[in-house]
Amino acid sequence: MADKRDYYEVLGVSRTATEDELKKAYRVLAKKYHPDMNPGDTEAEKKFKEASEAYSVLSDPEKRRQYDQFGHAAFEGGAGGGGFDFSSMDMGDIFGDFGDIFGDLFGGGRSRQSRNGPAQGANIRTSVRITFEESVSGCEKELDLTLKEECSVCHGTGAKPGTSAETCSKCGGKGQVVFTQQSLFGMVRNVQPCPDCRGTGKIIKEKCPECYGSGYVSRRKKITVTIPAGIDDGQSVRIRGKGEPGVNGGPRGDLLVEVLVSRHPVFQRQDYDVFSTVSMSYATAVLGGDIRIATVDGDVIYTVKPGTQTDTKVRLRGKGIPSIRNKQVRGDHYVNLVVQVPTKLTEEQKDLLRRFDESMNGGKTSSQMAEEGGEAENISEEKGKGFFSKKKKRK
Ligand SMILES: [Zn+2]
Ligand SMILES: [Zn+2]
Repeated sequence: MADKRDYYEVLGVSRTATEDELKKAYRVLAKKYHPDMNPGDTEAEKKFKEASEAYSVLSDPEKRRQYDQFGHAAFEGGAGGGGFDFSSMDMGDIFGDFGDIFGDLFGGGRSRQSRNGPAQGANIRTSVRITFEESVSGCEKELDLTLKEECSVCHGTGAKPGTSAETCSKCGGKGQVVFTQQSLFGMVRNVQPCPDCRGTGKIIKEKCPECYGSGYVSRRKKITVTIPAGIDDGQSVRIRGKGEPGVNGGPRGDLLVEVLVSRHPVFQRQDYDVFSTVSMSYATAVLGGDIRIATVDGDVIYTVKPGTQTDTKVRLRGKGIPSIRNKQVRGDHYVNLVVQVPTKLTEEQKDLLRRFDESMNGGKTSSQMAEEGGEAENISEEKGKGFFSKKKKRK
């Protein structure tokens, strides 16, 4: 997948393209390269599929976010991204009236055509809140969910025990009806789910009393989700096979758990890096010395160099967040060292400071220096009082 083209490039749009722009770009490409318009042209078919895949990802806000963050890697089945299922995309909403033309294209992948055959169940979405610390170390969370289970009375058939579903006479059990239609591109075969059996191919005459013919009952279930270390706020974990039950023996859909990470009072995260602000005393900044810095690994001792200015940025390599793909790879921790100005001083401390100040200015305090400095300093001190007070002083 490494040589895959960038999805935005494929569609010829900017990274900030709106939904409408994406849709427009895709429509143009899809019409141009559609296999029906280019019979036997494998290059066109490739382009068509490429554009369709790009659009299916970028038109889904969640997938688009994952793609923006991880690129194609987001859909290679890793922990954070989750798999990308090309066949599940729905073309209907893009093409509106033309949807039927594209109907056959994806074959069994389209749910509305494949109701008679095994089809994967729908995905379920939920969310879980974790602390910042949990996002760094990874954790397990128990979710309390209501899931559909196969009805134990009818074993999922939906028919009353002792009876069985009958084959639909309208579609002969195929679940779909076919008719041809004149369209913009010529005659097209149009396949639609059978209206009588709603695509199941079966008609249940006597419904199961337990599940009212649905074949499923809802049960509360506890599901443990393993959240990998390094997960960021808004990323999802996919649990395969915990979604809606499949149809006609198809596999269950997936459970997508969005992870919400609470803010930390000290640490801010950006990608895999951590940022924090740590204060140091004036004396430490001037003379140097050890200070304690909190990191996600616990406190570390950092030696401040003599003469360190306030707002000095320090990088603690490898003290950031572990990569969601490889725990051994970690971001960095950036610390902003700030000189803390004390606000509550004793008379003795004030006196010491004044004496220090004097020694720095050859025996005079800063305020004495200012008084002797004349007009310039006076004016800057009076700034807050405005233009007129300044004028008075000058006359
Ligand atoms: Zn039942
Ligand atoms: Zn039918």
